[in-house]
Amino acid sequence: MNTFCRVQVEVGDSVSCGEAVEEVFSELRRLENTFSRYLSESQVSRVNSDAENSPVAVNEEVFQLVARALEISCLTEGAFDISIGADVDFWRQCERDNCLPTSEQIKALKDRIGYKYIALDYQSRAVSFTRPGIKIDLGALAKGYVLDKAVTILKQMGISKACLNLGGNIYILDSQPQDILLRNPLSDESFAARLSLMNASISTSANDERYFLIQNKRFGHLLNPLTGLPAETDILSVSIISEDATFADALSTAIFVLGLKKGRELIGRVKDIQAVIISKDTKVYPVTPGLRSGCNGVYKMEGGKG
Ligand code: AMP
Ligand code: MG
Repeated sequence: MNTFCRVQVEVGDSVSCGEAVEEVFSELRRLENTFSRYLSESQVSRVNSDAENSPVAVNEEVFQLVARALEISCLTEGAFDISIGADVDFWRQCERDNCLPTSEQIKALKDRIGYKYIALDYQSRAVSFTRPGIKIDLGALAKGYVLDKAVTILKQMGISKACLNLGGNIYILDSQPQDILLRNPLSDESFAARLSLMNASISTSANDERYFLIQNKRFGHLLNPLTGLPAETDILSVSIISEDATFADALSTAIFVLGLKKGRELIGRVKDIQAVIISKDTKVYPVTPGLRSGCNGVYKMEGGKG
């Protein structure tokens, strides 16, 4: 997944720490082999190479995740869109060539993005693209999905206390609240907020750590599917807290692209999540009432310094 993974577990008598960690890593490898579009044998690579010609049958797990991604695209009005693959490839190529894109190239690219061009056949469990040039990229929700699967495995092993960190997407498996410090995107010296989490995940999307470097200029890796360009937004970072790590991951990417106003509106309509947005004017917005009041006792915002 081109990122780091840190696993801490507290084990009882029935299972050893090494066994638990090994199970998590073997699940991670399995999912990478299934979902990576950079491994030619993966199911997603098969979809990307053949689905514009004929429907590609995939396994239940891939089908369900693609279906979920399309639902989230509808919810976010296309701000989250797994058909972003060709756009990501294009910007990577611009970086390799150290060449800024032309407006004609961007215009042509827009024809190769659009979740509406991904068709699912529920009977044959097949994916097809209704336009040439579409490529899917599950990078914006895969880390969350891996966390959900890893937590399921740990629970099945009887483990009820763990902290998993996959490239900055964190899951706290614990019935006691654990503190998480939110990084200040503008300074390594301070943190932006302190949150308490239990049995929940937190996913943060920001543009400062991963970017395309072209002619010494940074272009953020979060792309706006409607323009094909790196998302221009008034948000520095957005963190979504949810028991559902897949959803938290996808939604944090989408809210970043939507920006503060539309992002806050959408968060207000979604159930069972909490959110913190740090805007470019370095205000910390605990967007959801749960964070302000510690409402259901699961999450509370304990302040912080900006
Ligand atoms: P994340 O770090 O979870 O926010 O996901 C970022 C990754 O998702 C990028 O590196 C791209 O591979 C992909 N991506 C970028 N923009 C989008 C978008 N608007 N919708 C879906 N995936 C995206
Ligand atoms: Mg994401």
